[in-house]
Amino acid sequence: MRLGPLEDGQRVIIIGGGPAGSSCAIALKNLGRKLGRDIDVVLYEGTQYGPDSIKRVGVLAPPLVQTLENTLGVNFPCQLVARKIVGYYLHSGRYSIRLYMGGNLSYVAHNVALDAYLLGMASRMGVRVLSGRVKDIKINHHEVSVEGESGGTRGDVLVGAFGLDSFTAGLLEKVTPYRRPRALYSIMAKIPAPVEYLLGCEDYIHVFLPSMGEVEFGVVTPKLTHFIVNIAGRRVSHEALRRFLALPEVARLIPTDALAAWSTSGGLVSPPIPFPLEPARNSYGDRYVTVGDAAGLVRAYKGNGINAACVTGAKAAEVMLTAGISHEAFLYHYFHAFSDIIKDLPYGRAVRRLVLFGEGYGLLPLVLYAAGKDRTLVNVLIDFLSGHKTYHRILKDWGGVELIYRFLKGLLPWMPPARVEATKPAAEATMGRLAPR
Ligand SMILES: Cc1cc2nc3c(=O)[nH]c(=O)nc-3n(C[C@H](O)[C@H](O)[C@H](O)COP(=O)(O)OP(=O)(O)OC[C@H]3O[C@@H](n4cnc5c(N)ncnc54)[C@H](O)[C@@H]3O)c2cc1C
Repeated sequence: MRLGPLEDGQRVIIIGGGPAGSSCAIALKNLGRKLGRDIDVVLYEGTQYGPDSIKRVGVLAPPLVQTLENTLGVNFPCQLVARKIVGYYLHSGRYSIRLYMGGNLSYVAHNVALDAYLLGMASRMGVRVLSGRVKDIKINHHEVSVEGESGGTRGDVLVGAFGLDSFTAGLLEKVTPYRRPRALYSIMAKIPAPVEYLLGCEDYIHVFLPSMGEVEFGVVTPKLTHFIVNIAGRRVSHEALRRFLALPEVARLIPTDALAAWSTSGGLVSPPIPFPLEPARNSYGDRYVTVGDAAGLVRAYKGNGINAACVTGAKAAEVMLTAGISHEAFLYHYFHAFSDIIKDLPYGRAVRRLVLFGEGYGLLPLVLYAAGKDRTLVNVLIDFLSGHKTYHRILKDWGGVELIYRFLKGLLPWMPPARVEATKPAAEATMGRLAPR
């Protein structure tokens, strides 16, 4: 059996036409041509998305422009951008703080438009896109084969780009040691609102850290014709979404009429959708590799899953073309390329526990209060939310002891009797500004 770099005419089978699968397909075609090899790429996609599909919020985090243009060699689809976002409001209890992200803009696009764009691009480059779900996978020393609703295919290597699709993860788990990532769940609601009202809202995403038990965090994103509201946690339910929407700080953002109309019309709500908390186990092996959410090589909480999907898809393609399709090739050249994410896992877990502890004991409003008095704490919160740095890097840059000192100092004016003179509020920190501009 030959598990070296892919040669001219060899076939790659990709399951899933989300951002990870399409990016992998595009990179195989592009880089393959540069190396003088025509790789036969067959991609199976099982879902037909319609106008009412809600798969994600649709925020495109800034590195995506570079990832598409520099790594994949395709234009960033500016025409799909519906709205620019300049930062976040972070809310907890009765406090909120505005975190302006400066030049690090995020964009809000129609949530699955990017998937269609990338899949169309892959198809134009000669990737064979087959509609219909894959029903069976076989992998042996000499080849891989899949059975799909639109027929079967044999190939040299399998790319699992199926997200957190439970059925498909089960298929791969049956024939390999692959084990899907642990996940949190999110429920999303699409709440139509008057366009004038939405245009009047600031270009900020609102992140809530409520003391609500089952809801770890909630997000309200103003789009052009509606709000997307999503809540996340281990066990989220439609009832929890209703209670989240009833929180005074959330209800003040969305017009009462819009909320009532959405609720009485049996408004659009997604089922619980999983997103990965940590990497999958054995996410690669001889003749198979997983990419995107299926591999779980993303920083939990960072909201840049699309970018991570494109980056991992492109990297897997590069490794198959230059290093090979064996377990060793994927271990040393693919998995190790994401060692910053792996090494950051314990820090990510610790931060999550701290946030849950803070929510449980009602301490997070104090953090926001203290940050309102100190520009450094504001910058730390921006680093935590933006996803540009690892958690480890943030703690190293800012220093744990220094942060605790600043936090306590920021709290002094709050503690009765307030003898210490309050420091000047940080320029971008504002309290309790929830109304649209
Ligand atoms: C509520 C929520 C909101 C989010 N919002 C954002 C956001 O705003 N910005 C952001 O960057 N990220 C966001 N994410 C994360 C982002 O959606 C994912 O990280 C990203 O979609 C992962 O891409 P992927 O290609 O790995 O998987 P997916 O996008 O899930 O694609 C997998 C594809 O595989 C197909 N498939 C699965 N099984 C089969 C099969 N058997 N046969 C054929 N096809 C199959 C599916 O139909 C699907 O199209 C959000 C996630 C959640 C849960």
